[in-house]
Amino acid sequence: MSRIAFIGLGHMGAPMAMNLVKAGYDLVVYDLVPAAVKTLTDAGAQAAESAGKAVQGADTVISMLPASKHVEGLYLGDEGLLQDIAKGTLVLECSTIAAESARKVAQAAAQRGIRMIDAPVSGGTGGAVAGTLTFIVGGEAADLEAARPYLEKMGKNIFHAGGAGAGQVAKICNNMLLGVLMAGTAEALALGVANGLDAQVLSDIIAKSSGRNWATELYNPWPGVMDHAPASNDYAGGFGVDLMLKDLGLAAESALNVRATVPLGELARNLYSLHSAQGNGGLDFSSILKLYRR
Ligand code: NAD
Repeated sequence: MSRIAFIGLGHMGAPMAMNLVKAGYDLVVYDLVPAAVKTLTDAGAQAAESAGKAVQGADTVISMLPASKHVEGLYLGDEGLLQDIAKGTLVLECSTIAAESARKVAQAAAQRGIRMIDAPVSGGTGGAVAGTLTFIVGGEAADLEAARPYLEKMGKNIFHAGGAGAGQVAKICNNMLLGVLMAGTAEALALGVANGLDAQVLSDIIAKSSGRNWATELYNPWPGVMDHAPASNDYAGGFGVDLMLKDLGLAAESALNVRATVPLGELARNLYSLHSAQGNGGLDFSSILKLYRR
């Protein structure tokens, strides 16, 4: 049975790691925040004192960190984790980061004989818990096949977007659209309620009409419409405003690189930036509704 080092046990990493433990894998886990480790050790995973210790003896490494700087900081440099990972190890980097960063880390890994794929995910914390995530993979097809048994324990849909970094490009296109759709959904619901409609009734109508989308089906931003959605839990948990802002920033950067025009993505980025500046950076991104709600 393979031994997996899992690094980064936040909102997404913890439930993903949990599904691997439940599938019977031997897991060694590490997070900068000791409290994040406990749920996993309670479930049977082993805790490591450092990322370097976690990868000792592991044939697979999975990381789920916030942003490019964390991923580059973890793997690269003289003290970086690539120095500790054995040749031939398979690394699944699941964070949402810049495609450029993903390529840089993958190239450094390849130079040391380490196989690496970028495998960002979609599906939210609900998908992470249920093991129904979508994995969007960039890298060699053979490495994706080697990773597939693990990915299948954490997700339902697995796509190969192309070479190194391609998974990140596809993920950023998806999240730019998600940012636009969530802001648009909040705007439409607030308009209806300001005109005297009930948020639940309007949500039910949109969910069966042409304006329906992931937010109206699974992640309604209006409190009380969906019991399981972060909106009904004071916008706690879920996908943070600052993480959405990071992704919209990545979309803007990638648009600049190729001179693409992304006016709606830029508008959404500005809305989330304003919302974050008002002290909401740690809330779930569906709290963008607060910008519209009277
Ligand atoms: P999070 O902030 O909840 O968790 C990140 C974890 O990484 C934290 O526990 C932090 O302590 C840990 N960490 C940071 N640097 C570390 C290091 N050097 N070593 C060990 N641990 C370290 O974030 P999240 O919501 O789990 O998101 C993780 C990634 O997944 C992000 O890139 C995000 O954009 C992406 N994502 C999130 C969601 C979502 O719904 N939350 C959905 C899809 C993708």
